[in-house]
Amino acid sequence: MKALCWRGTHDVRVEQVPDPSILNPRDAILRVTSTAICGSDLHLYDGFIPSMKSGDILGHEFMGEVVDVGSAVRTLKPGDRVVVPFTIACGQCEMCQRGLSSLCDNSNPNAWMLEKTYGYSGSGLFGYSHMYGGYAGGQAEYVRVPFADVGPIKVPAELPDEQVLFLSDIFPTGYMAAENCNIQPGDVIAVWGCGPVGLFAIKSAYLLGAERVIGIDRVPERLRLAREECNAETINFEETEDLLERLRSMTGGRGPDGCIDAVGLEAHGSGSLGAYYDIAKTVAFMATDRLEALRQAIMACRKGGVVSIPGVYGGLLDKMPMGAAFAKGLTFKMGQTHVHRYMPKLLSLVEGGAIDPSFVISHRLPLDRAAEAYKIFHDKAHDCTKVVLQP
Ligand code: NAD
Ligand code: ZN
Repeated sequence: MKALCWRGTHDVRVEQVPDPSILNPRDAILRVTSTAICGSDLHLYDGFIPSMKSGDILGHEFMGEVVDVGSAVRTLKPGDRVVVPFTIACGQCEMCQRGLSSLCDNSNPNAWMLEKTYGYSGSGLFGYSHMYGGYAGGQAEYVRVPFADVGPIKVPAELPDEQVLFLSDIFPTGYMAAENCNIQPGDVIAVWGCGPVGLFAIKSAYLLGAERVIGIDRVPERLRLAREECNAETINFEETEDLLERLRSMTGGRGPDGCIDAVGLEAHGSGSLGAYYDIAKTVAFMATDRLEALRQAIMACRKGGVVSIPGVYGGLLDKMPMGAAFAKGLTFKMGQTHVHRYMPKLLSLVEGGAIDPSFVISHRLPLDRAAEAYKIFHDKAHDCTKVVLQP
């Protein structure tokens, strides 16, 4: 089959690889009909995530048709059309039972790698390095889905791929980020990053009752989507002399009630000392993460507010204003999304017409052109906000 393989930093190629097969009784094999490139894939593309091996198949946002199931899978049969969560979870361990599927105890065979750096390991992830399990991803014609009896969700035939594909990751991720803000009537939520995750966080904040949502980015097309598709007020941080002052004045002098960092470890600087420091340290391989958006979110947040972090961080964060967070009594909420928990509810919102997630798509390309698609999405060229690949 054809699959998109990682060959090194900024080097991905569509290659011929062996077809996947059933390895365990709870596996299924999917023929992928649509798959997307995520901001998280860019961290792999840019070489920020350790333990990648040349030839690894990428892709964790995908859906398709079941073509084969293992002997223990009773919930699916060949022909079923499903969307698959990017987090792999057994459904039976204590973490899964608590609804924390991205922290599953049983799905990462390489848990020891993360235990060394993080103390304990989260779940395995599709197409996301060996420390997250070394699972082949879904930017491919076929993919093996472990624990297929608990992850994949069947989708109605009337809904096209583009309306349900993002249940695999970015819609639940934006939703959980907003839910983590514990939104109360009248709340103002600020969202750093108007990429796909930020845009879904904005939409979700309104679905959860926010009165106003402010989107922050520097890419004009993404700011336009935030305004016109998601009803946000927007700030271009590159054209704003003092972002914190601007947020203060937009919130009656008190700061946003919830601040969502939908940027993560590759934040662009805003001319501050901290941002230059991050660049110098990451270039010298002395740090892994650039945390300018997170610093600003902490500083901007109102006293007693919530900083919600869907953006991915990997290492030890330097010049993190922990004192400000402490002094203002902030709550931090973060982590990989518990996709399994959100899929049924969010599918019903799509079915009921409360949201059409396809609004984020700017590019549709065949899988054969995936290498070009990565470059376009990475460079944010041609007003690219989200790429869907068709195998
Ligand atoms: P993306 O790269 O398309 O979007 C990031 C956006 O942030 C860009 O539009 C960029 O211009 C903007 N940005 C950069 N620096 C900024 C700054 N200082 N202030 C404001 N905006 C800034 O990525 P995405 O697909 O939207 O994903 C966003 C983050 O969410 C990534 O870190 C990704 O890995 C992470 N993510 C996490 C989960 C999870 O389970 N928690 C799931 C999916 C994605
Ligand atoms: Zn993703």
